[in-house]
Amino acid sequence: MTTVNTVTGPIQAGEVGKTLIHEHLYITFMGSEYDVLMPFDRKAFVRDAVNRLKALKAHGVKTFVDPCPIELGRDVNLMKEVAEKAEMNVVCATGFYWEKYGLPIYWRAKSAEQIAELYIHEIEKGIGDTGVKAGVIKVATGEPVISEAEIPFVQAAAMASKATGIPIVTHTELGCCGPDQQKIFADFGAEKHKCMIGHSCGNPDPAYHKEIVDNGTYIGFDRIGYESMQPDDLRADNVVHLLKGGYRDQLMMSQDRFCHLRGMHILTNILEADKEEADAMERAMQDGTWDLPFTDIFEKFFPKLRDRGVSDEDINHIMEVNPVRFFSGEKF
Ligand SMILES: [Zn+2]
Repeated sequence: MTTVNTVTGPIQAGEVGKTLIHEHLYITFMGSEYDVLMPFDRKAFVRDAVNRLKALKAHGVKTFVDPCPIELGRDVNLMKEVAEKAEMNVVCATGFYWEKYGLPIYWRAKSAEQIAELYIHEIEKGIGDTGVKAGVIKVATGEPVISEAEIPFVQAAAMASKATGIPIVTHTELGCCGPDQQKIFADFGAEKHKCMIGHSCGNPDPAYHKEIVDNGTYIGFDRIGYESMQPDDLRADNVVHLLKGGYRDQLMMSQDRFCHLRGMHILTNILEADKEEADAMERAMQDGTWDLPFTDIFEKFFPKLRDRGVSDEDINHIMEVNPVRFFSGEKF
């Protein structure tokens, strides 16, 4: 059976179990390492993150995938420490973010082949000198189209997946460009059943979801709880659409939450939205009162699915059977 790279070493795909496919422990933005005026209490962070993961274990979660892009503060030693203390499988990623918030200039000047070489190195040899190997490949694109700068990174991900068999997890912006990502993946040799088009629940249109699943990849409803992007009631309706359409095998659910996001002000300064709220969130993350638990999907969202007639067997299939198959490399 296939092995899966976690930050604490390889496991069998069958051991993956119930999984949150897209969450984060720590994330930040490029340049925050120079901000000495914004302290980060690593010990307090670890304590908080471990508690949050332990709360998930009470819901039977065995694996937590943190597809933090390379340039968004990815710190695999930090992930490893949290994983060990919480006794949770944590899977980290290789891959860069999208143009607006990422893509370091050094790597923009490389070819897709050179970027793929880095990804393959991080999967097969490890990340820096940490000994930790990436278990998924991250792809991120913006809107309304995949930008010129982003294209080689998407191609590189497909090449690396083809070479290593490791699956791809994507970020789409405002629920668009999923089919464009799929086209590049197909053109550059990634297998459909090893790709998940993430944040697809950001698009309210069932026809968009149908196009993605008909193209043969997994679909991520993995921003559950972000009511300002789409109401969860609409997400729940769209989950039901997919289930009724016979696409249960292709659906994965998660929340894209985080324990600590350093640089909330960047999001609000650029988006010019809710600055006060963002300042309050950033303060709360620093003083340890930040509270958006990873358990909300179980406690708030699944009841919405059950109200709509979705069975626990369906929910379990999406949360456990699908991720195990995704990592095992088996087709659905
Ligand atoms: Zn994310």
